Amino acid sequence: MSLLQVQNLSVSYGKASALNNMSMEVNEGEIVAVIGPNGAGKTTLLKAITGLIKVKGGTVLYKDNVITGIPAHNILGRGISHVPQGRQVFGDQSVEDNLILGAFTIKKEKQKIQELIEREYERFPRLKERRKQQAGTLSGGEQQMLAVSRALMSDPDFVILDEPSMGLSPIFVKQIFDTLLELKKSGKTVMVVEQLAMAALAISDRAYVLQVGEVKLHGQSRDLLRDDVLIKTYLGST
Ligand code: ATP
Repeated sequence: MSLLQVQNLSVSYGKASALNNMSMEVNEGEIVAVIGPNGAGKTTLLKAITGLIKVKGGTVLYKDNVITGIPAHNILGRGISHVPQGRQVFGDQSVEDNLILGAFTIKKEKQKIQELIEREYERFPRLKERRKQQAGTLSGGEQQMLAVSRALMSDPDFVILDEPSMGLSPIFVKQIFDTLLELKKSGKTVMVVEQLAMAALAISDRAYVLQVGEVKLHGQSRDLLRDDVLIKTYLGST
């Protein structure tokens, strides 16, 4: 079943077009990767879906409801959670306070918040060890774990991540990608923008290749992984 539908979406920054009439969809229970070169419009696509920027044209449907133009906090309330590029944890707050802030959509249910915190500490024991530490003093990999966990504190159905591997060493990259597979196993739907195209194709079900604001190719990730022309032409590696 289709969970998210992006239909003929266009976004411009001033006169410069960043997304040009692009369409895509995400089905329930899938991991969908969005890959493509720098400046292709990947971050813009995520921001348009999550209500962080205005769209010029087109429609975004979530569970068959139009969400285009709805403010970001209302989109979160509908079960979509966004891990933004560059992590953006609250650096002067503790790890645990960052998690609690992530639960603001369910802020009255203390018991539920506690359960969700415990679930995240099980997912990333490193965060439990450092729960009193100021988030700004965590390593890059730890901050990315915290950003993922904070996004999961709203108990979303649909998790959107913008370049979760950025700046991480291979061991942390593997941990984050394994987490995406676990999220899928637990019934969540995942959309991930990635620079590490091959790694993203390896863990996703389907993928879209964006180039200058348009979908150049899309399909099953396992097919795209075997497409040498794709890899050489759009992804700039062999
Ligand atoms: P990267 O992989 O480098 O993060 P991306 O595929 O995520 O790239 P976007 O960040 O969505 O690409 O950018 C798409 C285009 O829009 C680029 O040409 C970029 O320079 C432009 N752009 C993005 N944000 C703004 C902004 N706030 N103002 C003006 N132009 C912008």
